[in-house]
Amino acid sequence: MANKTIIETIDIKKIYGMGEIKVHALNGLSIKISEGEFVSIMGPSGSGKSTLMNILGCLDRPTEGRYILDSEDVSELTREELAHVRNRKLGFIFQAYNLLPRMNALENVMLPLMYSQNGTKSEKEHEEKAMHLLDMVGLSDRVHHLPKEMSGGQQQRVAIARSMVNDPVMVLADEPTGNLDTKSSREIMAMLHRMHEDGRTIVMVTHEPGIANETERIIRVRDGKLDSDHKNGNHTTKSKFGNIKPKDMKQEQAGGQE
Ligand code: ADP
Ligand code: MG
Repeated sequence: MANKTIIETIDIKKIYGMGEIKVHALNGLSIKISEGEFVSIMGPSGSGKSTLMNILGCLDRPTEGRYILDSEDVSELTREELAHVRNRKLGFIFQAYNLLPRMNALENVMLPLMYSQNGTKSEKEHEEKAMHLLDMVGLSDRVHHLPKEMSGGQQQRVAIARSMVNDPVMVLADEPTGNLDTKSSREIMAMLHRMHEDGRTIVMVTHEPGIANETERIIRVRDGKLDSDHKNGNHTTKSKFGNIKPKDMKQEQAGGQE
């Protein structure tokens, strides 16, 4: 593929614990991911998936090895520098949504902009951008709702809007459908497919084969090592519900399952 490499890890290791009990969570893992790919990461519990995502997401550093993100070697950056890279380049979607409970949907989506040192844009421009993203995920009528006033699927859609607000080079999703019912999972996958079609690079951990099978490439880890890595030739380019538009979703909701 001629696309630019967005992620390259070279023989990364992560060893937790300094004393006698050391856990080798990653044991020499080398992967390359190109711009625009939609990749799943699978593997048994404890195999190192979250550790890998934390490193890819610049939330943590490898003990050994190198990590090059968007042509920048980030393996040796300080915590502060990593936070800066994270805010400029990455979007996150978590299994548990991780919205701030006292902030409404709009404020949650705008939050990353407050940290991004993007001083050139006014509050109003930030708000417009967040409103636009909330509209894209079908939640323009929920902008002033608090997380607890929304269903799980709606909260995850707020998280998707938040992950996009900084125009990230890559979105990392750790089991984004793990807490959701089938219908909401499909809606979330439909949105991830849309982001992918718009050219976004997405790396997603999942343990559901059906969900992984919707992506272009499946990387399996085991015992902190690469177990297999293959292109998913017959991936469904769109999920079954991939052609749902946000407006239709809104109507579905009005029809009232959630
Ligand atoms: P997965 O996400 O695939 O379930 P993890 O990356 O969470 O796996 O964990 C990999 C291994 O590292 C496991 O043995 C886990 O117990 C260990 N581990 C994860 N985080 C820590 C930590 N902060 N301190 C010590 N051990 C950890
Ligand atoms: Mg995990």
